[in-house]
Amino acid sequence: HGASSAQTPQAPGVADASLLIRLLFAVSAGYWKDPYIQYFVRQAKERKAPEINRGYYARVQGVHQLLRAFLRTTECNCQVINLGAGLDTTFWKLKDENLLPTKFFEVDFPAIVSRKLYHIKSKPPLSKPIMESHSGESLLIAVTRGLFSTLRFRYRTAVEVSIFFLPRPDAHSLDSSRYSIIGADLRNLKDLEERLKRFSLDTQLPTVLMAECVLVYMSPEQSSGLLKWVADTFPTAMFINYEQVNMGDRFGQIMIENLQRRQCHLSGVDACQSLESQMQRMLSSGWEAADAWNMVTVYGHLPQEDIQRIEKLEFLDEKELLDQLLLHYCISWATKDALHLGLARITF
Ligand code: SAM
Repeated sequence: HGASSAQTPQAPGVADASLLIRLLFAVSAGYWKDPYIQYFVRQAKERKAPEINRGYYARVQGVHQLLRAFLRTTECNCQVINLGAGLDTTFWKLKDENLLPTKFFEVDFPAIVSRKLYHIKSKPPLSKPIMESHSGESLLIAVTRGLFSTLRFRYRTAVEVSIFFLPRPDAHSLDSSRYSIIGADLRNLKDLEERLKRFSLDTQLPTVLMAECVLVYMSPEQSSGLLKWVADTFPTAMFINYEQVNMGDRFGQIMIENLQRRQCHLSGVDACQSLESQMQRMLSSGWEAADAWNMVTVYGHLPQEDIQRIEKLEFLDEKELLDQLLLHYCISWATKDALHLGLARITF
């Protein structure tokens, strides 16, 4: 699966930091609860337009709703793989909701993983949940760069847990029984599979893969290759993808220009032309069922009580601005269901 360049593009990492600042702003304005995001980014002072905050709300709630549906359908006897996870906090939120899967994997470029590991090891509210979820007597966890250095978690008392890291500031991955983070390039599927398997990936277990604003950074061949690899590798799986759509109109063109300014690999936008092309990409990559909704539709299907609550948080002058924004993002999802769990029925 032709993945080549090991080079880390600047843009995604940079985009990720500004994304987090915006998410943090929406969280501090009360759109949704995320007690963990503050540990990855400093407090955002900059005020964002209400439609932006509502857009992030729809994205976070929409993706989470499908993820939760998968976890409930499989009774958490499953794996989650967050592709291009950046500094995402889903693992910690699921733990609070008592919805941890058998194993939660995150993958991103090694440089982003190092940054995330730095935050995890220096902030107990992030490291403690990993240790609490870690089963077994031995709390020796391998942190590999190559395969060498180790990270030692040690209990002081049953309750108070302290964490000792051997000095390895450049660690590129961490493995524990419930949470793993792996530095890898999603365009190099052979290497990706090897690394996941080294960290106990079980391809026979129902697995949900998430990609939020990630596929757009790849070429059409690379993103289809990734989707195909997942469909070929996991007999029972779901793929949840959030990204741009309707890029053909004027607003879409402006979005493309903005992405180009961040030096994204924009060939991924081929699949972002329409909901139909989003679905087609999945179906032609070997998935059994696929669907794609734009975020206007998703927004309309989120729990309306909560929508009423968030719509009171900030006054929105022009509803059209929100609709225009929501119309240009979508959630597409696909399933394969060898175990006949009813995955194709998952929807909003
Ligand atoms: N999914 C996260 C979220 O929604 O908060 C982060 C989104 S950020 C816009 C895109 C992420 O994808 C970045 O963290 C970037 O490093 C990662 N990414 C892009 N291309 C990648 C690749 N080829 N391999 C690994 N990670 C990649």
